[in-house]
Formats: sequence, structure tokens, C-alpha cells
Amino acid sequence: MGELCSMHKIGFRLLKMIHQVDSTILPLHLLEVCFSVVQIYVGLFLTAGMIDRLLRAEYVQAAEWAICLLLVHLFFGVAISLMKRKFRGMWTRIWQLFYVWLREKAFSLDYETMEKPEVSEKILFSERRSQMHGGLGALLCQYCDLLRAFLQILLSAAMVFHVCMAVPDHGEGIFGTLAQPCWSFLLFGTALAGMAFGSWKAYKWFGAKMMDIFAAHTGVENKLTYLQGQVLGDPKVGKVVRMYDMQGMILKNVMENMKKSIEFFGKMCDVEREEEDANKVVSSLFTVGSYLLVALKAVTGAVTVGAFTQYTGAMNQFGSGCFMLIACHGRLREICTYMGPFLEFLDTDNLHVKGSIPVEKRTDGEYELAFEHVSFHYPGCEELVLQDVNCQIRIKGKLAVVGRNGAGKTTFIKLLCRLYEPTSGRITLNGIDIRKYDEEEYRSLFGVVFQDFKLFAFPVWQNITAGSRGQEEKIWEALRQADAQKTVQELPEGLASYLYKDLEEGVAVSGGEAQKLALARALYKDAPVVILDEPTAALDPKAEAEIYARFHQMVEGRTSIYISHRMSSCRFCDEIIVFDKGKIVERGSHENLYAAGGNYTRMWDAQARYYA
Ligand code: ADP
Repeated sequence: MGELCSMHKIGFRLLKMIHQVDSTILPLHLLEVCFSVVQIYVGLFLTAGMIDRLLRAEYVQAAEWAICLLLVHLFFGVAISLMKRKFRGMWTRIWQLFYVWLREKAFSLDYETMEKPEVSEKILFSERRSQMHGGLGALLCQYCDLLRAFLQILLSAAMVFHVCMAVPDHGEGIFGTLAQPCWSFLLFGTALAGMAFGSWKAYKWFGAKMMDIFAAHTGVENKLTYLQGQVLGDPKVGKVVRMYDMQGMILKNVMENMKKSIEFFGKMCDVEREEEDANKVVSSLFTVGSYLLVALKAVTGAVTVGAFTQYTGAMNQFGSGCFMLIACHGRLREICTYMGPFLEFLDTDNLHVKGSIPVEKRTDGEYELAFEHVSFHYPGCEELVLQDVNCQIRIKGKLAVVGRNGAGKTTFIKLLCRLYEPTSGRITLNGIDIRKYDEEEYRSLFGVVFQDFKLFAFPVWQNITAGSRGQEEKIWEALRQADAQKTVQELPEGLASYLYKDLEEGVAVSGGEAQKLALARALYKDAPVVILDEPTAALDPKAEAEIYARFHQMVEGRTSIYISHRMSSCRFCDEIIVFDKGKIVERGSHENLYAAGGNYTRMWDAQARYYA
């Protein structure tokens, strides 16, 4: 019973969500259900009346009843067909809603929460299963059928009661006795109880079977999504695959997981089919029993021959209503196995409480940032990646962050951008803990080019302005500063040219050109703090030298933080901090650090050898 309640809790919550977004969807579906049920019962009533009149040779009245029957079917038929035509658009809308809810939530969650495997598993699972099994649209249809079944049972129950109550006017012996109301109720009740018992058992048994299959399936969807999206779907992978002959390894991996996924869906479909078959057997037994009861009533003269059609129809409706009721529950349970995780995902809380203080709007750009005893480890890893980091980022200063791979430089930036929160210690903006600020306002202070920056297969201007229709002049200025002006001018449609070929027949830009566009995006944002994480890694030495030469001008009047492996770039900075194993081990100007003969000197000399 608990399982049934939690299933309907999920279902009703989803229906409520649909209703809140579009208040016409549920009433229209409700109307269609009522119309289709009324059509059946009015049809049964009119058919019985027509037969009775024919039997009494009242042909004119019989013709009138036949015309009524025709008009009723015509009216309801047209109305239902019009409504169904409208449903198609509604189902598309519902399908879009599902995606909007899913993605809006995903973007609203903090980066740290979204990195948890169990969270991404919920998204992928509900998304894939919805695509295959209809999701919200299927849920709505099942609830319509459930209501249809209820109405069918309710309306036919009155006729079933009537036929059971009918007293035989002839017939003796066993037939006469069984046609008596008390025996009729007993026979009908036994058939009904048998059907309910059989169906309930089937529901429980097949439900448990589905849960077992479901439990054995976790993790496969994540693997497949990775393989399909980031391995098979990424054209860049083709190079590595060909050079290292990795086809076999990748295909084997894909096939293994695909096999598991197909087996999973196959098993689920088998169970569904078996459950349906079991229910059909149970309901057929009930139908046969109820037909016999009506036949008994007709033979003993308790009901007329015309009413025989009406009552067997009603019994049929009662039986199919019960069958539908059970079958719908089976399908709803199946839908809830993936819509449940979807709701759980919508209910996921951020790991950290978000502050709401607005960030002071300053035209002078005087935003002072500081790390105070900051230590940090990634969720799920015990090892500290940053240890007791203390530093002040000078207003409008140029700070270089250097250190070996894995020293913690990017993590330092991620914490500063509030993608993660310190495990201990705090980061402050003008003396206030950054956690207290409104997240969006705080992030608006930064223009960042991450090492793994991402451009999208949208037009150039959308990539630069993040979609908002910006001033064209400002875009060109950002492109000029990032040395990407000529590249964009030469594109077939300038700023309107699409990048890559994923969405449109766009242009393929080189790694260096892409990096310059990402730089232009950061500069366009006009943020008071510019962070460049290895901004010249994909550039050739000439382009790199040009960017350095321009660097001062680019970040003029802003605070800039610059992570680089190219030690020569540090010369352009006022202060350099050197990271080693998550700690700041040295800091100062290039001259001071070099003179000190520590880590910095060794790194500088090692590179100077190659660049000499
Ligand atoms: P750097 O930028 O100096 O090369 P990073 O800050 O990227 O170094 O990484 C510091 C350490 O943190 C490395 O040991 C890296 O493996 C680890 N690390 C980075 N990102 C994650 C993550 N998302 N989860 C767990 N560990 C991570």
C-alpha cells in the first residue's frame, strides 16, 4: 500500500506541476475522458432501447432510437477527435517542460553538487528513459486511462447492481436459485474478489521483479552517455583513435554497455508484457463469469433479451475498467521508476547555503580579494589540494600564479570564482566572506578564460556576448584586444558566422583562434577582475608574444590574475606567487624571486634553456 501511495504522490505532484504551467491541459484531458465514457453508456442505453422496440415490432420508434444513436456517436466522435488533435501540441509542450525543468535545475545547482556522480546519474537516467517511454506525456495518458477506468466501473456498477437485483419470473431448480438476487451478488462478488486478488498478486510479483532488474542497472547509463557524447560523438577523438588503433577497445566498451542497456530495456518490456498477459487471463475469467450470470438472468426472465446486450455490455465495461485500473497502475509504477529520480533531482539541495548580500557597484573597480587560511579538498577526496593559503590580491594589480602541474593553481582560481567553497578558512571581497554575497552578482566581477574554455556551435557574436544582443562596436573592440579581429573579419558572415558544424554549416576555428575568441569573450564582459588560466597555451610563439605585448593594455584599469607555464609572461606582472603541493611557497616580483634562487629561479632557468 505504501508503494502505491508513494507512486501516486509522484504522479499527482507531476500533474500539479503541469497544471501550474498550463491550466488548460488537465481540464481538456478530463473532458475527453468524460466524453468517451458517456459515449459508451449512452450508446449501450440507446442500443438496448432500439432492440426492445424492434422485438416489440415498433419499427418507427426503433428508427428514432437508431437516429439518436447515430447522432450521439457523431457528436462525441467529432468532439473527441478535435480534442485529440489539440493533445498533440500539448504533449510536445509537456515534453519541452520536462527538459526546461531538468536543465533549469541543473544550471541552478552549484558546480560542486553537479559533479556528484549520483546527481548526474539521476538526470541521465530520467532523460533517457523519458525519451524511450514517453515521460510526462505517458504519465498524463495513464492518469486519463485511470480516470476512464474509474468512471467505467462507477457507471457500470449501477447496471451491475440492477441486473443482480433482477428477480426471475420463471425458472426452477438450480438456475432459478442462482438467478435470485442474493446468489447473484454472491457469484458476482466471488468473481470480482477473484479478479482483484489475482491482479493484486500479479502487481506485487511483477513489481518486485522490475525493482530487481532496476537495481542491477545503475551506472550503465552514465557510462553510455560518456561513451556516446565524449568518445563517439567527439570528432577530435577520431585522431587519437586512428593513431593508436583504439577502435577495438572503444567499440568493445560501447558494445558491452550497450548490451547491458538493451538487456535492461528488454527485460523491463518482457516483465510488462508478462504482467499484461497475466492480467488478461484474470480479467477474461471474470468476463466469462459475468456473462454467464447475465445469461442466467435472461434465461430465467429476470431481464429482457434487449437488456441482455445492455447488461453484458455493462459487465464488459466493469471488467475492462477493472483490468484497465490494474494495468494503469503497472504502467504508472514503471513511469515512476524514472520520474521519481527526476523529482528527487529537482529536490536536490545545493551543498552550500547561498548568500544574498548585493555586491557593491563600484565604477573605480576597487574590489579587494583575499584568501585567509584557505584549505581545500575536492568532494570525495581526503587529500588537501590547497593548504593554508593566505594572499591578498592587489586592486588593479597584475598577479601571476606559477607552479608545477597539479600544484593547485586552477583550484585556487575555481575557489576564487566560487565554483567550490573552501574546506576551511575564507575568501573575502572587500573584507566580507564571499559566501555571503549573491552568487550571480559575485560572479559578474570576473571575466575568466579557463584552460578548458568552451566555445559553442552558435554564431560568433553569441559566443562573445553570451547571447545578449550587444553593441557591435564593443564586440569588435574585445576582438581587437584579443587579436581575433582579423580572424572574424575573414569569416564568411563575420560576427554572424556559426562556429563548428554541430548545429549549422559553421566554420572550424583552430585551437589558437578559439583561445583568442574565448579571450575576447572575457574582455567583452568588462569585468573588474580578469583571470586567464594558461591563455596562450594554444597560440604560436608569434601570437603569444603579441598577446603579451598587449596584455597591459588589455587589462588596463582591472585586476588581473594570470596562470602560466611560460615563465617569460611573469615579467609583465607586479606580483608572482609560486604554488607547490597546494601551498604558496614564494611570492614577490620577478626580480626579487629570481634573486632568491628558489623554486621560481629553477623553473625560470629550466625554461630559459629551451627558449634560448
Ligand atoms: P594545476 O592547475 O596547478 O595544474 P589543479 O588545481 O588543476 O593543478 O589540480 C590540483 C590537484 O587537484 C591535482 O592533484 C588534481 O588531480 C586534483 N583535482 C583537480 N580537479 C579535481 C576534481 N574535480 N576532483 C578531484 N581532484 C581534482
